[in-house]
Amino acid sequence: MPAERTPTPLVGVRSLKGVTKPTDPLAMTEPTAGTDAAPRKRRRAFRLTSRVFWDLAVYMVGLGLVMGVIFPPFVTLLGVPQAYAGRPVFIAACLAAGFMVGAMNYALTKGVVGGRLAELGGHLRSVTGVIASATRSGDWSSAVIEPIHVDSDDQIGDTAKAFNSLLVAVEGRKELEEQLHHQAFYDALTDLPNRALFLERLKEAEELEEQQGIPSAMLFLDLDNLKPVNDSLGHEGGDTLLRAVTQRILGSVRGEDTVARLSGDEFAVLLTGVRCDEQAAIVAERVLASLRTPVVIGDHLVRSGISIGLATSEAARASGIPMLRAADLAMYAAKAAGKGRCEAFSPEHHDRRLKQHQLRADLHEALDAGQLELFYQPIVDLPTQQVAGFEALLRWRHPDRGLVPPLEFISLAEETGLIVPIGRWVLQEATRQAAAWQTPSPLGRLRISVNVSVRQFQHPDLIGDISTALLRSGLDPALLTLEITESLFVADDAGTTRKLEEIKELGVRLALDDFGTGYSSLSYLRRFPIDTLKIDKSFVDGVATSSEAAAVAAAIVQLGQTLRMEVVAEGLEDADQLQALNDLACPLGQGYHFAKPLPAAEARELLRLSSGTLLTA
Ligand code: C2E
Ligand code: MG
Ligand code: MG
Repeated sequence: MPAERTPTPLVGVRSLKGVTKPTDPLAMTEPTAGTDAAPRKRRRAFRLTSRVFWDLAVYMVGLGLVMGVIFPPFVTLLGVPQAYAGRPVFIAACLAAGFMVGAMNYALTKGVVGGRLAELGGHLRSVTGVIASATRSGDWSSAVIEPIHVDSDDQIGDTAKAFNSLLVAVEGRKELEEQLHHQAFYDALTDLPNRALFLERLKEAEELEEQQGIPSAMLFLDLDNLKPVNDSLGHEGGDTLLRAVTQRILGSVRGEDTVARLSGDEFAVLLTGVRCDEQAAIVAERVLASLRTPVVIGDHLVRSGISIGLATSEAARASGIPMLRAADLAMYAAKAAGKGRCEAFSPEHHDRRLKQHQLRADLHEALDAGQLELFYQPIVDLPTQQVAGFEALLRWRHPDRGLVPPLEFISLAEETGLIVPIGRWVLQEATRQAAAWQTPSPLGRLRISVNVSVRQFQHPDLIGDISTALLRSGLDPALLTLEITESLFVADDAGTTRKLEEIKELGVRLALDDFGTGYSSLSYLRRFPIDTLKIDKSFVDGVATSSEAAAVAAAIVQLGQTLRMEVVAEGLEDADQLQALNDLACPLGQGYHFAKPLPAAEARELLRLSSGTLLTA
């Protein structure tokens, strides 16, 4: 029954049987709103309802009547003279005594029971408040509810037990709410805050800046090689990598920074405070350094690069874009600039991204509109300096932007899946051209190399596309080389091996492009059927000037000789490099020193001049 607002003074019984903490029941009574609440509290009275008044009145009148009306006729039996027993004053005294006993008895009972009920009521009120506020805020973590101690088996004890069993349900609900809250705001794999929680924190940081002028900065981190790890080591391998990367990021930040996993291979770090931009750069450096140590996944060592975009709230505001978007754009710039690095956001990133969006849209038209073209760069036999073959390199003749180099659109083609039809066209065009140019070369006959990107390699149509191109062009399969990169070999994968073997069964050669820059072990070289190693330009650059670069180049040439593989030095730009490579007995070279990639007609002319043979195509 709800307590009435009008307090009624009654007997103040303070020792409450059945309640462990015998608190003053009055203390549990809510102060009544209004100015007289305090004096009322001081009166130390139980609040009782009008119904209790009624009960009290009936009880007292009843007892008084019994004592005053029924009791006097019997007192003569006890030896009281009739003269006394019949007097009105005696009857009145009995009535008064009846009232007094009734009143005291009733007050005592109500005091004890009422006090205990008040304690129960107090508990219930506090529980209701806690549940209501937790439901409102959705935060159950601070909802602490103490059960009531039960040490009597009367009705109040039963009520307390019922109350406690209600608490069990509340606890269950609390755990469920906490679980749901955790699921909604934390990433299950890494236990980091997820995108939703990160956006909340970002909003709080914005408010902090608005209200108190405290700036913030963030890092947007993107793993460079989750997909190949997933593809080759399975999703368990990918999960291990993600957990290891999480630990390394956490080891690079301060306790107050927020680290979140935004999606598959994307993480973010939020920093606030006056020098947060400098701190963000320090964290980025630490994360990059921490990832230089490979991650152990089963029997494999995986070196995982990460590309980082840094944005400050100030720079983002100046460009009129949200900080998350600014950091994302900077991250893309870091990826484009060669991965495994950190870029700070600048307005050009925004402009470049807009252009890239346009480029991606235009790329859909490029193939059908005949805007794609192949350039050919000669691969030269170093001892004789004769053309041994060509590498076909893709160009896009964009109607507005002129000749677009592949580094600006191959990744877009990969993202959109357009690389598959584009790659198919490259295969057909390059084999057709090579078949038409056939002429004797130092390697027998002229060869053609075609680049195959990871997504194209993994596509089920690849083998069919190669066969069709060979069939249509009539080119001898032995004259076709497919250039793949080490990223295919992050780890042993049955699918990759099978496909490489199928390519070999067609009679086609395989080259490892940009060799020396990848991250997998050398042992795959013996297992996979590779014919050619292309020494990456970064080693050729320093071959005449840096002892380290020369040592790497020498080791690759040596490796080629041991494993009976051809070796091509890429990006050969001057006579000193040529001399150094000749000293190392590197058999083949390719680079601006001989020729840049040339349009088909110029390549044919070069071929004619170098071999003295007039070509027919
Ligand atoms: P890549 O296969 O390693 O090709 C060699 C790149 O180095 C070419 O860049 C070439 O122009 C450049 N290069 C050659 N010699 C020198 C030199 O002496 N100095 C300098 N600075 N650069 C030199 P390009 O044509 O821009 O191609 C870049 C990359 O785009 C290629 O690297 C290849 O990975 C990719 N690519 C090109 N064409 C295709 C294609 O048809 N399909 C696929 N999937 N990728 C392609
Ligand atoms: Mg290549
Ligand atoms: Mg290369």
